[in-house]
Amino acid sequence: MTASSARLPYPEVGGHPAFDLVDTVHWRLDERRAIDTMTSFEDVVMWCRQFDLLERDAGGLDQLAEDDPASAANELEVVVALREAIYQAVFESSTAAVEVIAREHVAALGRSTLHRDTDAPTWSWRVPSDLTGPRAAIAFVAHDLLTSDLTSARQCGDDACGWVYLDTSPRHNRVWCTAAGCGNRNRVARHQAKKRA
Ligand SMILES: [Zn+2]
Repeated sequence: MTASSARLPYPEVGGHPAFDLVDTVHWRLDERRAIDTMTSFEDVVMWCRQFDLLERDAGGLDQLAEDDPASAANELEVVVALREAIYQAVFESSTAAVEVIAREHVAALGRSTLHRDTDAPTWSWRVPSDLTGPRAAIAFVAHDLLTSDLTSARQCGDDACGWVYLDTSPRHNRVWCTAAGCGNRNRVARHQAKKRA
């Protein structure tokens, strides 16, 4: 798998942040073309910020990572393992992957605190503001996905793309990650193959 530094925004086709996380790998099903856009702790923080998974005042993470690069690298490794576990748990029914998510979720609960929401009469988990915060936030969304109804979990119909999503289309017949991307490219390819035949 080749790596590239990520550019905002990250794709938002998954219908659930845990699937959006899986989709930070492009061309997952073609080893030669696969690109991982999450290759640094800074990428992880950027991704979490885009999906609103960290406290608004969770500044300072970049500085913490700079001060302790070894811990930041370790957190990246865990986040990537969690991402792959989400994919393997849902699409390969891997029990080992489910265990990874369970373990990280329990750890995240142990490190987080319940806070009263300011704009609603509810309480929600607040993840730690240190380097382990992003990993905890991701463990929460992974657990949320895994314990929800997965009957509409799908993978793009393209041979190489590999992006995953919840099919919430009215007729549950969504085949492509995006109509403009994989949908269009595959339609054109099919049309050209027909013309040649
Ligand atoms: Zn696709």
